Amino acid sequence: MNSTRGILRDSCSTGVAVLVLMALLPGRNVIGQEQSDALEHFQREIVMRLTGGAEISPGVRLSDRTSPENRAVVRDYLASLLDSLGFDPQRQPYRENGENVYALLPATLQSDEYIVLGAHFDSARQSPGANDDATGCAAVLGAASYLVSLQERSRNIYFVLFDEEERGLVGSRAFAGMLQEEELTVVAVHTIDQMGWDADGDQAIELELPYTGALELYREAAKVSGYSSQLHVTEEPGSDHSAFRRLGMPAVGLTEEYRNGDTTPHIHRPGDTWDTVDFDYLAAVTRLIQSAMVILTGPVSP
Ligand SMILES: [Zn+2]
Repeated sequence: MNSTRGILRDSCSTGVAVLVLMALLPGRNVIGQEQSDALEHFQREIVMRLTGGAEISPGVRLSDRTSPENRAVVRDYLASLLDSLGFDPQRQPYRENGENVYALLPATLQSDEYIVLGAHFDSARQSPGANDDATGCAAVLGAASYLVSLQERSRNIYFVLFDEEERGLVGSRAFAGMLQEEELTVVAVHTIDQMGWDADGDQAIELELPYTGALELYREAAKVSGYSSQLHVTEEPGSDHSAFRRLGMPAVGLTEEYRNGDTTPHIHRPGDTWDTVDFDYLAAVTRLIQSAMVILTGPVSP
């Protein structure tokens, strides 16, 4: 697969370049229409490549992201995307055929505090996994492409694409364990799972088991990003955020209205395809999340 990486990078470099350029143009929190369109384009391409809607590498279309072979292809693709956004992609092999992909965006100011923004890249068996969770990966990468362009960040951020969520949060547990082993000060963990279904068109999201302050953070981010929809709070534990909470880290899960009756009917099925994804909704929520990250990495009061 290594020989195909150059070709892959060329084919997506234009979209990435436009996105990075657009991120540089507006002020810190102002998001213009052109940047918005570029984000949607960028995310559509990621979701299509991850789900067989487009080739992920020459001649390769994925039917799911379950087998070791398919997940290896996905890791190479995600790493090449991070690379093209200006990151130094890393791998965390934690067991045979289990490996997270991640990148560190260091603070520009002195800081020993860390934020984690993550989503899982594996899918359920025989499901293309567009909603679950190619959308989460596209949200993480969309936010990463913006945050890398900021001139000042007061905290370090890990962008992580977790492996094996569907097998019991295996990848996120391994990543949380690594952070704990390194005795890092983790101040906030945000994980995204299923962010592409909005049949009622209200663009509402759910915050799952938010840590103290997370709801207020998203209310503030909503003002900044022009997001005017509802922020529901639920007690849904079934995704990667739980892996961090169990080790005592402040965590929150972000999802579509999973508990409030507006969620994909195709979950874990062959019908979870890219063309069921509401890309406008995904982009709007990504802007909200990136605004939350901007606040978290903004000036810290002494
Ligand atoms: Zn999921």
